[in-house]
Amino acid sequence: MDIKLCCHYCEKQGSVRKHGKSRAGIPRYRCSACGRTFQTRYIYPGNEVDIYPLIQARLNEGLSHSDIANQLGINVEIISRYIFMTDKNIK
Ligand SMILES: [Zn+2]
Repeated sequence: MDIKLCCHYCEKQGSVRKHGKSRAGIPRYRCSACGRTFQTRYIYPGNEVDIYPLIQARLNEGLSHSDIANQLGINVEIISRYIFMTDKNIK
């Protein structure tokens, strides 16, 4: 699986590599551009609700679904489901 994550600090894409796991089992990542490490839990479907505001913010910026999925390290399906849900709620 090839996840192109965006660095949480300098937002560079393509310079982020896996960097082991935290004690909680959450994958850590290291950005070779700025040398910082961070972790994301957003790749776990169980925490989908946490990322909805992040998805919405990026939708507002006009990013494509695949760009958002890459940045957040999530499946495009989660974004589709979010849009489906919000459509139902708003209309
Ligand atoms: Zn970085």
